[in-house]
Formats: sequence, structure tokens, C-alpha cells
Amino acid sequence: MKVIEHIAKATDTLFTIEILPPKKGEDIQTLFSHIDSLMEFKPAFIDVTYHREEHVYKEMGDGMLKKYVTRKRPGTVGICAAIQNRYNVDTVPHVICGGFSQEDTENMLIDLDFLGIQNVLVLRGDPVKSESGFVPHPEGHCYANELIEQIAGMNQGKYLYDEGSATPTNFCIGAAGYPEKHFESPNLGTDLQYLKNKVEAGAEFIVTQMFFDNQVYFNFVELCRANGIDVPIIPGLKPLVTIKHLTALPKYFFLDIPEALRKEVAKCKDNKQAREVGIEWCVQQCQELKAAGVPCLHFYTMSKSEMVRRVAEQVF
Ligand code: FAD
Repeated sequence: MKVIEHIAKATDTLFTIEILPPKKGEDIQTLFSHIDSLMEFKPAFIDVTYHREEHVYKEMGDGMLKKYVTRKRPGTVGICAAIQNRYNVDTVPHVICGGFSQEDTENMLIDLDFLGIQNVLVLRGDPVKSESGFVPHPEGHCYANELIEQIAGMNQGKYLYDEGSATPTNFCIGAAGYPEKHFESPNLGTDLQYLKNKVEAGAEFIVTQMFFDNQVYFNFVELCRANGIDVPIIPGLKPLVTIKHLTALPKYFFLDIPEALRKEVAKCKDNKQAREVGIEWCVQQCQELKAAGVPCLHFYTMSKSEMVRRVAEQVF
């Protein structure tokens, strides 16, 4: 079922999660055991991230380094199919511009369609770690709205080099939104205009970057509505669980930690105490969002179930 159908049919806020594919060489059972422990909260759908290639250098023993291009977390499509098969839960593979030609994308979407996967979250993707900024594939897309246009075209039977005769796909397309602005954007207003482009290109729902101050989300939703963005906006959440998160989360995700949370975490002697503060904060965030009638509470699990489970037990 499509994400927007899940939302339309729901009588209460849905529980949904995002997971990462295991690192190359790790088995899938550990991931399954984490999903197993969240199944009692009946996830309406499970997002699976996509990780692009990285450049790694290996010592050759003679003082020389050899460069390899490798994908450390492959398997997004396979995991989505495995989850649908094992749990009968809909999956939302992330589809990214980075590293993909338009033809690669088309072929991946054909695989997804054949596997009965009906949803995609469409992203530009992070830059390759060793590069300072995002570099598009020479035959790919620069921005998420262009990739959304390609998929929306396939939904109308428009494939790259075939005119008219192709079977239409039927993907429900989602896009990312940034309540605290995407880090490259000059200001929130410009970012919102680009977000609107994604919706006009065919995005039917938005999933937000994580945030720790609900007012930031409420303001963002209000601004979106005022700018004519009227699709469901799913809040993304993650409990803060270590003292280091106070600096790591702003660094990697370009967000603010509210002063009240910072103060509480700063009082903690160790990560065990910080975890309790972070879980309690997240529970309160969830309860307020749920009371406000958000469509889903979407948890960034980082493929670990324990903290999200502790939150979900108190909210669902
Ligand atoms: P875009 O919407 O393309 O925007 C990128 C930047 O360009 C923004 O600053 C925007 O304002 C600007 N912009 C947009 N259109 C234009 C235009 N036409 N002209 C000029 N500027 C423009 N990354 C991964 O690699 N894999 C994942 O699985 C993944 N999952 C994610 C899930 C969620 C919910 C979120 C919030 C992020 C995720 N990311 C993932 C990270 C994401 O790929 C990065 O944040 C990336 O830098 C931006 O992606 P986007 O789709 O928002 O980009």
C-alpha cells in the first residue's frame, strides 16, 4: 500500500521507522532482530536508506596507496523486498541522484516495480565523503526535483528512450524537508521554494530531517501551508542518547539542540544518564506531536531498536 493511503486510512498517528542496510559482509539477521523487537508497534512502513559509493585508499606495502571505490552499505532494494516478504510491511527505499545515471535509476525503479514496492523517498543524496560538495553523475540529476520528475514520468508510462508504449509504474513519491533549512540553502524561504518544486514535480509526502524542538516543526508546517505545500509532512525523530550527540547531531545534521535539553544533558555524569534524558525528551516530543495530530512519528533507528522501543512503549 502507498504511504499516502496508509495516512488517509489511519485513525491515529502511525508508527514508522527508517533503517540502514547492514555494512557489506554483515548478515541480515541482526537487522531482522531489531525489526522484530519493534513489530509490536505495527510499523505502517519501513524506510531503507541508500548509501552511495565511497573512495577508500589501501596501503600497497611499497609506500603506494591504491584507491578503491566501494559501497559500504549495499543492498537497499534486496532488504526492502526481504522485509515485505518476511513481515508483510510496506517498504520505502530511498532513491538518490548521487552516483546514478538516469538509465541506472530507471533500471532500479523497474526492479522495485517488479518486486511490488510502491513507495520511494527521493533524495539528491549526500556528497561522496572525500568530496567537498555534491557532484552529480554526468548523465544523472543535480537535484531531487529532477529525479522526482523522472519517476513521475515513469508513472505516466514515459521511460527514457521509449515513447508511449511503456507500462506506467505506480510509485508514491516522497521528498525530504528541512525544518531548520538545508545546510546549503541561503535561507529558509529559498529552501521552501525548492521544496515546493519537489511537490509540483510529483512528491506526495514529505519526511523531515530530525528536530528536537517541536515548535521548529510546527513553524515549518505553517510556512509550508502558507506557501501552498499541502502534502502530509511526516516528522522525523531520533532520541539523543549520548553526551557527544550534543555536538555530533548539530555537526552532521545542521540542527539546533534546545537550551533546556543541552542543560539537562550537560548535568549527566555518563552516557547512561544522558540516554535517560534523551529518551524522556523524545517521549515528550512524541506525545505533543501526536496530540497535534501528525500523520506519523517516523523514527531514525540507525538500525538499533532499543532506544526507539523505549520511546514507542510510552507513546503507542
Ligand atoms: P534537494 O532537494 O535536491 O536540495 C539540495 C540543495 O539544493 C538544497 O539546499 C536546496 O535548497 C537546493 N536546491 C534544490 N533545488 C535547487 C535548484 N533547482 N537550484 C538550486 N538549488 C536547489 N542521503 C543519502 O545519501 N541517502 C539516504 O538514504 C538519505 N536519506 C535521507 C532521508 C531524509 C528524511 C532526509 C531529510 C535526508 C536524507 N539524506 C539521505 C540526506 C540528503 O540526501 C541530503 O540532505 C542532501 O544534501 C539533500 O537532499 P535533498 O533530496 O533534500 O536535496
